[in-house]
Amino acid sequence: MSDVELTVPDLGNFTDVAVIEVHIGPGQQVAQGDALLTLETDKATMDVPAALSGRIGHVRVAVGDKVSSGSVIATLAAVPSGVGTAGQEAPASSPAPGSQLAANKPAAAAPPDIRPGGSAADREVDLLVLGGGPGGYTAAFRAADLGRKVVLVERGASLGGVCLNVGCIPSKALLHAARVVEEATGMAAHGIEFTAPRIDLPRLADWKNNVVRKLTHGLAMLAKQRKVEVLTGSGRFVAPDILAVAQSGTLERLRFRHCIIAAGSEPSRMPGLPDDPRIMDSTAALELTAIPARLLVVGGGIIGLEMACVYDGLGAKVTVVELTDQLMPGCDPDLVRPLEKRLKARYAGIHLKTRLQGVAAGPEDLRVTLADANGERTMAFDRVLIAVGRRPLARALALDAAGVAVDERGFIPVDRQMRTNVSGIFAIGDIVGQPMLAHKATHEGKVAAEVACGERSSFDARVIPSVAYTDPEIAWVGLTETAAREQGLAVEKSLFPWAASGRALASGRDDGFTKLIVDPTTRRVLGGGIVGINAGELIGEIALAIEMGADAADIGLTIHPHPTLSETIAMAAEAAEGTLTDLYQPKRRS
Ligand code: FAD
Repeated sequence: MSDVELTVPDLGNFTDVAVIEVHIGPGQQVAQGDALLTLETDKATMDVPAALSGRIGHVRVAVGDKVSSGSVIATLAAVPSGVGTAGQEAPASSPAPGSQLAANKPAAAAPPDIRPGGSAADREVDLLVLGGGPGGYTAAFRAADLGRKVVLVERGASLGGVCLNVGCIPSKALLHAARVVEEATGMAAHGIEFTAPRIDLPRLADWKNNVVRKLTHGLAMLAKQRKVEVLTGSGRFVAPDILAVAQSGTLERLRFRHCIIAAGSEPSRMPGLPDDPRIMDSTAALELTAIPARLLVVGGGIIGLEMACVYDGLGAKVTVVELTDQLMPGCDPDLVRPLEKRLKARYAGIHLKTRLQGVAAGPEDLRVTLADANGERTMAFDRVLIAVGRRPLARALALDAAGVAVDERGFIPVDRQMRTNVSGIFAIGDIVGQPMLAHKATHEGKVAAEVACGERSSFDARVIPSVAYTDPEIAWVGLTETAAREQGLAVEKSLFPWAASGRALASGRDDGFTKLIVDPTTRRVLGGGIVGINAGELIGEIALAIEMGADAADIGLTIHPHPTLSETIAMAAEAAEGTLTDLYQPKRRS
């Protein structure tokens, strides 16, 4: 049998479509219908299925290539119909991929005999975890600790997911660097002057990468110690109990007893922007290849503002545009105010209720058109960071082959035990919905693993704290004032300003406050927020208080060490109880 070429089918009006995943390698056996590539346009993604079964010869495309109808994907030593890898009959016709673009559904229909009840698995797996981020590795490790034989499938080169590789950890390393610069500069006002820092960008990036490497290597060790088998490859469902994993050159079908989906999320894209390396998402921004003189950050949420703080600290002149009427949407406005004040004094501009209309890439700069109630204006920047949210990474998993439901935004609905609608399949982390936070993912990972192992666990945490590691930091947990107002709940707010905190003053940063939201009848703590340096380190106490059903007096009567910022929580509690002596306030309660 001679080689044939596998080509991209008719893509309708689409040309030069980006290849975002390649699922095949030389020598790999593919069955008709197996996904060869995943393509992505501004509007949707689609998989390109194999039109024939056979063994792949040369692969002609790579991730990042652009393809159009008829582009050659690979050569194939074709196998006659009926004697494919799984011995399946070829379907009469392949699905028309063009039609999948609008529906945003995977096109790779599973061959008939690997549907439920088929016997086409290469091996049996006890518990399979798909995705090695904080949700996935936690679930894998917990299940292994409970005695299960676990296979963890991760397409990236290292474990840790977005959080360790391109999220929480690298961003915090760079935020630390920016803060050191800021603190050193800030001491000029108090009698210690440093010369301007010389920033060696490659060395700074190396240090950040080393921090990441230490943690990801640590995870690899932990997996080994627990005998968790890590498969490096891209997984997709081909049946409700079978996941096909494309590794370099092979495709292995794993039949699982239980599966935990932890495939996470990716940055949301804005349609219509030019393909230009100066337009970055958070992953590109964290690579730190250059400090632009003028940076536009599109999106005033946590990720956008953290990256703005990094680049501001390292010398860029930053402008922020945000579509809504406040920075950090979702957070109480009073908590945002000290941050906004500081940013306004430092940044080139903060534009609320403003929309990015378009970007024109010129040789010298990026011409950005912004629109607000007063009309449109064009401004020039050297780089633009798009930080407008994240979307679940469900589409490349062929969830429909397993029958796993997704909602209209692409998230996988789960119950409190992290079960999907399909028996034996769980889902956790960013892929199941907001808040997209690492600590939510790890908590859910433990619940899913324990339930899969027969334990009576469920997600019953009362609250999930949020932290923006900006300067100053903002942290909040539980009921916000805004939510209380929206829900018509009567609450009491008590507040302790850091201008009265010895530790804050001695740190040169009294631009913060701590507040508690208290039930006026039961005196229970329902929520809390902190703005100021290290707010993220402090918020855990309020989260614990809420989980424990503590009332304000419990916090106020707990002796906090002096002088610390943690005292401000006790003082906010004392303020609620009317026992505060560090400020003069009219007595509220006896
Ligand atoms: P992920 O971390 O996204 O992991 C999913 C994994 O699945 C990935 O490794 C991916 O490669 C793999 N995968 C996907 N599809 C497949 C497939 N088909 N086959 C095999 N493997 C697959 N959160 C915080 O709590 N605190 C922070 O300070 C914070 N900072 C952040 C800063 C930035 C810049 C960003 C982008 C995010 C930040 N987050 C933060 C969010 C946090 O990173 C995520 O909430 C968290 O990583 C979600 O964990 P997860 O396990 O659900 O998914």
